[in-house]
Formats: sequence, C-alpha cells, structure tokens
Amino acid sequence: MSYLRKIEYRVIPEESFEILRNCAGCGCKATFHNTNSFRVNANGNKVDVWLIYQCVRCKHTSNLTIYERRSPKSILQDEYEKFLSNSKELAFEYGTNSQFFARNRVEVDWSHIKYAFKRETSLMDGNEQLFHKGDLLVISNSYLLKIRSDKIVSEILNVTRSKMKEMERLGIINVTEKKQEHKIIIKLDRELCNEDTI
Ligand SMILES: [Zn+2]
Repeated sequence: MSYLRKIEYRVIPEESFEILRNCAGCGCKATFHNTNSFRVNANGNKVDVWLIYQCVRCKHTSNLTIYERRSPKSILQDEYEKFLSNSKELAFEYGTNSQFFARNRVEVDWSHIKYAFKRETSLMDGNEQLFHKGDLLVISNSYLLKIRSDKIVSEILNVTRSKMKEMERLGIINVTEKKQEHKIIIKLDRELCNEDTI
C-alpha cells in the first residue's frame, strides 16, 4: 500500500552520557560524569586535548582523549577556542558521541540515559498527535543510543510493549529495523480501533 504521511523522529540525548570505569580513588568500578571541562596541553608543536570526567562518589578525575599529539594546525581555530573556554556545547557534543567513547574504550552507562523524541516533520493539520492508517513513521537513532527498539516503538506509539506486540500480530502496525542506518520504520497498515487510540 502507499503511505499518505511520512512522520520523522530523532532520538536525542538530553544529557551527556555517564561512563563506567575503574576508579583509583574508590578502588572499584564507578560511575563518572562529564565535568564539561577540557584540558589542553600544548607542548612544542604538539597538542593534547582531553575531556575531564569525574567519579560521582569520590570526585577522582579521569581524562578521555580528544586529540593526542596533534599538530595545532590540524585543529580548527573555532574548536580550539571552545576547548580553552570550556564550551558546554562542545562538551555535550563529545559527551553524547558514541564513537568518542568507543575510541577511548570506555563503557557508557546506558541504563541511565536520558533521551527524548524530536519530531522533525511539522504538520499543520491539527492531528499532529494522532496516527492513522497510511502513516509511515521513521525514527532515526543517529546518536546510536543503546535503547531497545521495541521500547522506542512503544514509547512513540504511547502504548505498552505487550500492546505494541499485539498490534504487530494483528497487522495494525508493521515494524522494520534498518540497523545499518540506525532507523526504525513503523507502517500503520490498519486503522486503529477506538480503544487503540494513540
Ligand atoms: Zn571514585
């Protein structure tokens, strides 16, 4: 069938990720949070830049590498100034960048992730909150947040997970995951009954 309306969402983090790593102060694995402070070390013609994390229990700090022994010329002036002024914006950008954590080989604490769905399409038909037969919902998880896809789908549709599974079984919705693109596609193939109102 053809789809009448395409509605796009993005899953966006609301806070910097917390990380789990061994803490020298606590002597065990602990949670560290983003301090929104950078440390810049310019040594001759090489620059090192770190983002500083801090143990939530004992305040011990741990640095995650942004640049290691880089030539100053290879760093954008604008970004360099943001490091020096401890730009909160830039700290959030790194603090929610899954690849940055992967590069530093640290574990993100996905159990405490705060996120929201941002609707990309603005519709002015007065029924923005209602989904109908013929709707195609595209949810992008471009920040690569580790959230189960059935959780995302049930939250978007505002139904319980078991209700969502039943809707799938009854052919009301059709859910496909495009893992490589980090997208979830929900097709509404049948009109929702009154008690299904979402
Ligand atoms: Zn600690």
